[in-house]
Amino acid sequence: MIAKKVIGLPLKGLRFAVKSGDTLIQHAGTQALRIKTWLDTSKSKTDDAADKFSTTSGNEDANAVINYEGIDPLELEFQKSPINLVPAIFLIATPIAAAVITPWYLLTHQVSAPVWGVFGAFMVWTGISITAGYHRLLSHRAYKAHPLVKNFLLLGSTLAVQGSAFDWVSGHRTHHRHVDDRMEDPYSAQRGFFFSHIGWMLRSYPSGRFDYKNIPDLTKDKVLQIQHKYYGLWVLATNVAMVAAVGWLVGDVWGTLVLAGLLRLVLTHHFTFFINSLCHMFGTRPYTDTNSARDNFFLAIFTWGEGYHNYHHFFQYDYRNGVKWWQYDPTKWLIVGLSKLGLTSELRTVDDTTIKHAEVQMQFKKAQQQIDTASVSGLDLPHAMKSFQDRIKFEYDAFMQTVEEWQALKAKTIELKKTEYADRLHEVDDKLKHDYAKIEQKILEHNSNLKTAFRSIGISKKAA
Ligand SMILES: [Zn+2]
Ligand SMILES: [Zn+2]
Repeated sequence: MIAKKVIGLPLKGLRFAVKSGDTLIQHAGTQALRIKTWLDTSKSKTDDAADKFSTTSGNEDANAVINYEGIDPLELEFQKSPINLVPAIFLIATPIAAAVITPWYLLTHQVSAPVWGVFGAFMVWTGISITAGYHRLLSHRAYKAHPLVKNFLLLGSTLAVQGSAFDWVSGHRTHHRHVDDRMEDPYSAQRGFFFSHIGWMLRSYPSGRFDYKNIPDLTKDKVLQIQHKYYGLWVLATNVAMVAAVGWLVGDVWGTLVLAGLLRLVLTHHFTFFINSLCHMFGTRPYTDTNSARDNFFLAIFTWGEGYHNYHHFFQYDYRNGVKWWQYDPTKWLIVGLSKLGLTSELRTVDDTTIKHAEVQMQFKKAQQQIDTASVSGLDLPHAMKSFQDRIKFEYDAFMQTVEEWQALKAKTIELKKTEYADRLHEVDDKLKHDYAKIEQKILEHNSNLKTAFRSIGISKKAA
């Protein structure tokens, strides 16, 4: 049962119910105030105040949580979260062991090509099982998979030792729902690199306790129930027994355990953790800047395509993370490849017009930021910037008109589908298809006009 806690999503303490919409909105306001107050307060003040609050912590009254010194007792409670002993030891010991044992083993032993082959195969299997299995299949229901595929990915995810599917998916759905919230997002990037990468698993933080109310689709799945119930055994069976058995088959049990067992485990851990840390820190934001998620090609290489995290946070149900055909996303290629064999189906995608609309919207936002930055000096805008501003204003009005036409077309589509007879539906469909293509064309034109405008002030990359 030890491994049940290995990744730090405790299986006890089911204290936090998923809040209703109204409560959330109310809570968000209170949280924003709390965070602002907390940020304004120095750490020394926080330490001093800890004792003063010992009698009031636990008071859930939103108006009572901030005292006259502006210290948030919830934040204090957060900082005092108890150490998650087993995951903490495991997550600290395994990288140290890998860093010491691997070079020693490689210097003192001959490792055969088949062992390296097993190491490579297990790296791919483990990594892609997390991305295609735990993440896109189970967390987001982005496609449907044949039981063979599902169970193969489930086994690979178990090999990854990142918690049971229940824990992983519950935490991930909470991450999407409360992204960047310091109190609710289990691996909030607002708490810095270390916390979002690994720190969140080392202590039993309130944001890391889940009650599985957000995974009703998983809790009734018999196979997942078994994986959850006997998770510790499954971890040992895959990481020790299975790896050793494969080692025996290739004639080097210890070499396989060191490379395909230990080293593979540590590398896969940290490659996955990059998605929560670095993918919320470095890269571009082509689709939204309402959260910290970034698109980053280099991180996509290590994360089997999950580096396109800005797109993913905006359109989370799309089976693709690298949505453009040329973007490096082996997980999407695997899913689409398996669909050709009939092993995956119902691949969910966001339509091109919606994606392009989000991109163009972001470009307008960036254009406005350029204008605002140029205006800060208080001086008159330079000539080039002034004409840029005029172009942007003109283009924005035209864009809004296109968006209105698009909304009207969507409303008309719903109406027509409701009222038309079945035998006329294909006719209606053809006409609608044509109208949608026209809207898409217009949005592409806005995109290209914006690029030209950006080039006029010497910015080409941001308009890409
Ligand atoms: Zn994220
Ligand atoms: Zn996700």
